[in-house]
Amino acid sequence: MAKEEGGMGLRNLMAYQDLETFVSHFMRHHLTIIDLSLPSNTLDTYEWELNGVKHASFALSLTWDTMRPLEDKKQWTELIWLKGSVPKHSFNMWIANADRFPTRARLASWGFQITATCCLCSRHDETRDHLLIQCEFSLDVWLQVSLRFNHPNVRFHNWSELLSWL
Ligand SMILES: [Zn+2]
Repeated sequence: MAKEEGGMGLRNLMAYQDLETFVSHFMRHHLTIIDLSLPSNTLDTYEWELNGVKHASFALSLTWDTMRPLEDKKQWTELIWLKGSVPKHSFNMWIANADRFPTRARLASWGFQITATCCLCSRHDETRDHLLIQCEFSLDVWLQVSLRFNHPNVRFHNWSELLSWL
């Protein structure tokens, strides 16, 4: 509700379909309250310029791409963010690729008073590579998967070799 209406001057974002609609409305409103007097015979228009390119309308995605720091495209992008993939699977693959699973070795390195050994075999530190690739239980799962896909000679020893195989 507007301040002159007794509110705090906050806008109800739920009234807008998305953030882009809100920003577009906000910009139009802002441009109408500032005085930009022109000679009466001049057509008044506004443009949105990003990196020297003029746009007829405001585009939040283009603005965001202009403002944020850009990284180089990662080679593993298509392996993880597959078109039509299950979002939960892609997210887990993304976390695994970033080596951010809360494995026991990582938790112990953060100071948690737990054993760092593998929860499956109790013989090695529970790291991402051990848990998903090197553990004897994981090896058996990979063997069954490779047999099912008719690739019995598939063998990888670490995460980068797995990504190369994918
Ligand atoms: Zn293990």
